[in-house]
Amino acid sequence: FPSKLPNVGTTIFTVMSALATEHKAVNLGQGFPDFECAPELVNAVTAAMQAGHNQYPPMTGVPVLREAVARKIEALHGHAYNPHTEITITAGATQAIITAILAIVHAGDEVIVLDPCYDSYVPNIELAGGKAVRVPLTPGTFRPDFAKISAAITPRTRAIIINSPHNPSATIWTAEEMRQLEDLLAPTDILLISDEVYEHMVFDGAEHQSAARFAGLASRAFIVSSFGKTFHVTGWKVGTVAAPAALTAEFRKVHQFNVFTVNTPVQHGLAAYLQDPTPYLQLPAFYQAKRDLFREGLAGSRFKLLPSTGSYFQCVDISAISDLNEADFCQWLTREVGVAAIPLSAFYGDGFDQRVVRFCFAKKDETLRAALERLRKL
Ligand code: PMP
Ligand code: GLN
Repeated sequence: FPSKLPNVGTTIFTVMSALATEHKAVNLGQGFPDFECAPELVNAVTAAMQAGHNQYPPMTGVPVLREAVARKIEALHGHAYNPHTEITITAGATQAIITAILAIVHAGDEVIVLDPCYDSYVPNIELAGGKAVRVPLTPGTFRPDFAKISAAITPRTRAIIINSPHNPSATIWTAEEMRQLEDLLAPTDILLISDEVYEHMVFDGAEHQSAARFAGLASRAFIVSSFGKTFHVTGWKVGTVAAPAALTAEFRKVHQFNVFTVNTPVQHGLAAYLQDPTPYLQLPAFYQAKRDLFREGLAGSRFKLLPSTGSYFQCVDISAISDLNEADFCQWLTREVGVAAIPLSAFYGDGFDQRVVRFCFAKKDETLRAALERLRKL
């Protein structure tokens, strides 16, 4: 039968992790921590199971978790979401994003994505019968180019997807850039999907500029986050969507037939753990130290370091090391050097012509040191 996604293979993250395992390479490819989450969080989930929170939760997520999420967003960004009508708990950000897209994109609608972008966006749009319009971020700096975004808008533009802190470039949007987006969208009814899964990983004193902070964006936005990133539990697959009530109502129509509900005891455990903001408030310093360890380790090498101001990624230019293209370089690096990375081409459509690969530094210091020992020889 005809494939619905003829140009899609297995995701690069799965491919590179399998190759890393096969070659016993240090895996700095797929983005996930190799250290444990807080024992208090495991205890909170275990306690929820023992307390009998083991059947279907409400379709929208357990109320105590939705309330905790609304309180957190209000404290950090000053926007009060109604936890009952405007917050939904999802099976990770991945499900949040595809559900938002399925809820709003009609056949033939266009959705603007900014290249490089996370690999699920474009297939999600295509599954909804929409057309992804790829607009490049500025080459070299990865800043949004508002003239190009503006030129890509047509009467069919249903939505735009943004992602800050950004996977893979590790840049973050400034307040001024968010305001420019707000101004650009003001005369339109274009919706916004703001992928903020790395919201708590911002460095050097920078602040995360959530779309929730900008009235003209919040009123049209699905704001997506992921506990997997924030609490070092990527395998738990629990995320959130904050959106105005009318958008949330449409979101939930799809969500109920998509997954219906999300893991009950984990939701209760997260709600209890969220009562103390310390863990996520400490995250910038925690990851900044890892970023610095990794960058200092590569400083004298022939890898050219790009800035890393947010997320848990570090991009490097490989031109001085190899003539291989970046996809072949990542294969070679994993097989021959024993360190896995992700080629940036995985985040683009056709015509990628940079020589940049992405490392993930969400690893134990000893893991980073083991990788650095190998990388510094190149
Ligand atoms: N968006 C971005 C930008 C990501 O990097 C990821 C995780 N790699 C996701 C969404 C998906 O998050 P989750 O694991 O919660 O589904
Ligand atoms: N988002 C993670 C990354 O960018 C991986 C998630 C996945 O494997 N799909 O590495």
